Amino acid sequence: IQNINKIYKSAGKSLTVLHQINFSISKGSTVAITGPSGSGKTTLLGLCAGLDQPTSGEIILNSHPLSGRSEDELAAIRNQNIGFIFQNFQLMPTLTALENVMVPMELRGEKNIRNYALDLLDKVGLADRADHYPVQLSGGEQQRVSLARAFSNKPAILFADEPTGNLDGETSDKIEKLLFELNTQAGTTLVIVTHDMELAAKTGRIIRLKSGEILSDEVQSSAKASLLNS
Ligand code: ATP
Repeated sequence: IQNINKIYKSAGKSLTVLHQINFSISKGSTVAITGPSGSGKTTLLGLCAGLDQPTSGEIILNSHPLSGRSEDELAAIRNQNIGFIFQNFQLMPTLTALENVMVPMELRGEKNIRNYALDLLDKVGLADRADHYPVQLSGGEQQRVSLARAFSNKPAILFADEPTGNLDGETSDKIEKLLFELNTQAGTTLVIVTHDMELAAKTGRIIRLKSGEILSDEVQSSAKASLLNS
């Protein structure tokens, strides 16, 4: 992330949401992005994932700059490398839970994906809701379908916006465990936006935003060790 600025323009007004953001994230690491509401966390996550373009600056993923690419090229990069868990889940309303989970695999042309998708739903505790449509699921259940869908992408890097925000303590623990397993077992880089400082403390690094600027960027050397020992 190099010298990123993001200015939104609406109703004739300009709003600078991110100002001169610089950092790099190592492959296989875990990072939490925290900060007050409105500080620019979701905007930053979307830019990192190539879902939106910065006003200026450059984002480089695996040595590939994301700027100047067509929407098709960005979609292909996202599909191969990136999983995204949205704050508002963004499930497809006309597809069942199972079908939603299968979408990324279908886009990649994979075959015989049904059992794998069912297994992922089982992992997030929703095997018995496979045939439900999003409208028939609670908010927390939709969130877990969104997690299973992101996992199905076998992403090199997973961006998660408040992945445990709507969940009860027990389910939240289960999801946290899955996230960190993805990191330790599959080497997936995790970038998590969260207000939950307990979750943030389990990552290797905490980047704090305030009013669109980086307030602090701290590596937590003890985080992984304590996680592995717990
Ligand atoms: P929260 O913790 O509440 O989710 P956040 O830190 O993720 O907040 P963002 O969603 O990145 O914050 O929003 C940062 C600022 O940008 C906010 O003031 C918001 O109102 C503004 N903003 C976000 N999206 C747009 C948009 N599409 N157009 C104009 N302003 C926007």
